[in-house]
Amino acid sequence: MSGLIRSWVAAANDASSFFPLNNLPFGVISGPSESADQARCATAIGDQVVDLASLQAAGLIPAYGFDEPALNTFMGSGREAWAEVRHALTELFVESLSEPTDPARAALQPIDDVTLHLPFQVAEFTDFYAGRQHAFNVGSMFRGPENALPPNWLHIPIGYNGRASTVVVSGTDIHRPLGQTKGPDDNVPSFGPCQRLDIELEMGAVVGTPTKLGQTISVDEADELIFGYVLLNDWSARDIQTWEYQPLGPFQAKAFATTISPWVVSKAALEPFRCSTPKREWPLLPHLADSVPMNYDIELSISMAPAAGNDSIISNTNFSSMYYSSAQQLAHHASSGCAMRTGDLLGSGTISGADRGTYGSLIEMSWGGDDPITLDCGETRTFVEDGDTIALHGHAQGDGYRIGFGSCVGTIMPAHNQTPSS
Ligand code: MN
Repeated sequence: MSGLIRSWVAAANDASSFFPLNNLPFGVISGPSESADQARCATAIGDQVVDLASLQAAGLIPAYGFDEPALNTFMGSGREAWAEVRHALTELFVESLSEPTDPARAALQPIDDVTLHLPFQVAEFTDFYAGRQHAFNVGSMFRGPENALPPNWLHIPIGYNGRASTVVVSGTDIHRPLGQTKGPDDNVPSFGPCQRLDIELEMGAVVGTPTKLGQTISVDEADELIFGYVLLNDWSARDIQTWEYQPLGPFQAKAFATTISPWVVSKAALEPFRCSTPKREWPLLPHLADSVPMNYDIELSISMAPAAGNDSIISNTNFSSMYYSSAQQLAHHASSGCAMRTGDLLGSGTISGADRGTYGSLIEMSWGGDDPITLDCGETRTFVEDGDTIALHGHAQGDGYRIGFGSCVGTIMPAHNQTPSS
């Protein structure tokens, strides 16, 4: 597959559009005068959204629950259903000599006019730690460079079971979490608002086809169960994490919020952008072996805007450097016999490149808070302050088109027991 698939939706043919016909991401929308319980499934083409419930009602696409306020029914229908719907949508919106059909025209409305909801019901959220540079950087700060990578790191994708209940869609305000912390000079811990609030730039893999209890899968099989990918910000309270994390890993430091982008970009749209995982330092055991490239070349960036300042790009990096692919993480997750569900969300781990301008978290950019970053507006930051807005951006660059993810945005509000600061 190469080159733009032209659509009769003119804006989709612009080389800078995030949603050319090649993309066809899936999300959930409601109109300006509608309530959230009228939300239904949609795709995006150019500057328009396409109401999939109306196309389903008109019999123009196969029925996979597109009138529901979540993609789960469609995601659980499996890869043949995904391909069937992608093919039907491509036929309806491709530029051709014949006139577009009336129901296809009627299903369009400007993307700016609709509310985008959480695209699927998140069954469970697991977060991994598969970026080698991030693991080395954070490990160096917490344990010193000689002990930075734990002995298991090069053999298994390390992860923890997070919270599905606090996964929110882009645009949802995030309150600064409260928690227990203990500074190095304190004799006893105290309870209060997090003082070292951080971000983590990650991709999230969304499980479509479930597995059964006791069913193990190969990495190749795992790849076929993944429906698509989102941008994911794994908000992190570093001071809470430092105190609580040994020996069972992050708990409240990560439980308060995770933001995802509103569109799930399907694996089919990302197919031309597959790339190999990095060279292995130790051979992986057979249950983690892959036979084809399973990483993706996706350009990522982070921007930050203070309450009274303009946006600054604070990092540019790429998903391609991850040591473990999402398919390897899913195969590993199921390898004990753990059942995976439709709607399971697997965070990749923080995506950091080799130097400061490519790091995926503020604790790395400010090196533990010792070396502040300077924003374009002149303000400096070590961690996130109240009123700051953080946005993650991502796209895969094709020949004359791009596969965009939209953005993944959150603004930090004061802690729940605090009054807004001036
Ligand atoms: Mn994380």
